[in-house]
Amino acid sequence: MYIMKKLKLGDRCFSPYISSSEIGEAVGKMAAEIDGDYADSGSLLFIGVLSGAYMLAADLVRKVTVPCDITFIKVSSYEGLSSRGEVSVKLPLSLDIEGRDVIIVDEIVETGLTVDYLFDYLAPLKPRSVAVASLLFKKQMYKGRHEIKYAGITMKENLFVVGYGLDYDEKGRTLEDIYILDE
Ligand code: 5GP
Ligand code: MG
Repeated sequence: MYIMKKLKLGDRCFSPYISSSEIGEAVGKMAAEIDGDYADSGSLLFIGVLSGAYMLAADLVRKVTVPCDITFIKVSSYEGLSSRGEVSVKLPLSLDIEGRDVIIVDEIVETGLTVDYLFDYLAPLKPRSVAVASLLFKKQMYKGRHEIKYAGITMKENLFVVGYGLDYDEKGRTLEDIYILDE
């Protein structure tokens, strides 16, 4: 065991928030639920939302035991500590998703803007179904139109977090634990 310490990134300080073992537990639960729900699918496809979801996507697909594939899409809406309020695709999908059971994998859902955008983007590509799996869910901030079916950890705090794929101006993504911004 190691002790998580305070963290400084650029001009900001962050405190320990969620340890890698708690993350592992949450991801295990998400995978078990997905295994149950998609046991008879035969066409499960995860779409990881880059860059933030790269770590969750890698961990989740290794814990899911039903047959599945993975691909990625890159979108961006955040700059620094807050959302710009509009989503844009930086790297499009490179795979045919027609008739497939899709699970969008995002590391955190806040307002739901990104998820709503992705549902609209995927719909014309005719997937059989679309669901969302997100490690973190800022439920109080959520205004989206779609259910976040697999939410690993629901946050009570509406604060900015880094680590486990989440960045502050491209820093902190490689940390295995999650840290929260000091107020
Ligand atoms: P939404 O579109 O739901 O408002 O926000 C989704 C995206 O915003 C996430 O995929 C993530 O990239 C970014 N985001 C939201 N909250 C945080 C946060 O606390 N920390 C970081 N680093 N990114 C966040
Ligand atoms: Mg993201």
